[in-house]
Parts: sequence; structure tokens; C-alpha cells
Amino acid sequence: MPETTKEQTYRLVALQQVETDIKINKASIENLPDKLAKIDAELNHAEEIVNKNEALLKDYSQKYRSYESDTEINRSKIKKSETKLESVKNNKEYQSSLKEISELKSKNSKIEDDMIQYLDKIDEIEDEIKSLKNDYKKIAERIKIKKNELKNQVKNDEQELIQLYAERDKIIESVQKDLIKKFLIIQEKQPNGVAIVQAKNSICCGCNMNIPPQMYNNLQRCNSLEFCPFCNRILYWQQEE
Ligand SMILES: [Zn+2]
Repeated sequence: MPETTKEQTYRLVALQQVETDIKINKASIENLPDKLAKIDAELNHAEEIVNKNEALLKDYSQKYRSYESDTEINRSKIKKSETKLESVKNNKEYQSSLKEISELKSKNSKIEDDMIQYLDKIDEIEDEIKSLKNDYKKIAERIKIKKNELKNQVKNDEQELIQLYAERDKIIESVQKDLIKKFLIIQEKQPNGVAIVQAKNSICCGCNMNIPPQMYNNLQRCNSLEFCPFCNRILYWQQEE
């Protein structure tokens, strides 16, 4: 009979290990959508930066074209004034036309300076966009690989999970029914789902409390099932190697 208790206890230890592995696998599978979303967020961010710069480029180009059309309007005004100049009747009109032409020319000169600045900005931002698009491509490639890795990992986890469930069923079948019942009740009550823990150096490894000496002796003899008086978990003792 004592041998049976020892065997049964170690079956529970094995069961606990399988339960823990199942939990880890399930968490890994459940976390996949979150992980994929995080990865997508990085790519979306890179895309946003490209879009922002493209919007800026559009804005600069529009400004440039608007300046261009301003200068064209001014040039045609200048032409008109110059024609007018040929047919002026008096000096006053002549002076006024000259002034008008001079003002328009100076306006255009200023606009043309601005246009040169915008051309520089457009060049700069076009280079920037090229480099950003290159970055985006690299991120997209890296993400594609990472996503495949994650999906393969989950596939493995899913296969492993099937095996773990089978293993769990097998162990459960080999343990006395009332013992399994106890195990499951304790497991349910424990926040981390661990129902059986090692007792080491007179200490419960589940709650780190000191185990009463008599109980620790019993555990070392492996002939009775003992429960931690503090956390209520099943205890087992293992010979140090
Ligand atoms: Zn304990």
C-alpha cells in the first residue's frame, strides 16, 4: 500500500507537469492575434510616415504650381503695361506705367526665389520618400517572415496540445478517482492552477511556508498523502540527486 501512495503521488506530479504545459501552449495559441496585431502596428506606422511625407510633397507641389501661375499672371500684366507704355499720352501716365512694371517685376523676382526654395524642398522630400519606401519594404519583408514563424509555431503548439491532452487522459486514468477529484478541486482553487508542489528543506515550494516536522517526516517516507497546512496543496518529496 505505501508503494501505491508514492506511485500515485508521482503520477499527480506528472499530471501537473502536463497541465502546466497545456496552459503554456494554450497561452501561446491565444496570444497569436495579439502578436500579429503588434507586428502589423509596426508596418502601419511605417506606412503612416510615408503617407505623411507624400501629403507634404503634394502640398509643396501645389504651392509651387500656384506660384508658377502667379508669375504667369504677372508676366502677362507686365506685357500689357509695356504695350500700354507705347501709347501713353503724358509723362505722368508714362511714369505710372513704368512704376507698375517695376513693381510687377520685383514681385515676380521674389516669387521666383520662393519657387527655387520649394523646388529644393520637393527634391529633398522626394529623396526622403524614396528612402522611407525602401524602409517600408524591408519592414514588410521582415514581418512576413516573422508572421510565418509565429503561425508555424502555433501549428506546432496545436499539435503538441493534442498530444498533451492525450497524455493527460492517460495519466488521469491511472490515478485513483478520489485522488483525481481532490487534485482537481485544489487546482481550481489555486490562482496559478498548481495543485501539487514539492516539499524541499522542510519548506512548501508552493507558498514558502515551513512544513511541520512530523509532516515532513511522513513525506520523506512517502507512505501517506500530505497537504500543506497553509496553501492546501498536495505535497511531495523528492530524493536529492
Ligand atoms: Zn504551501
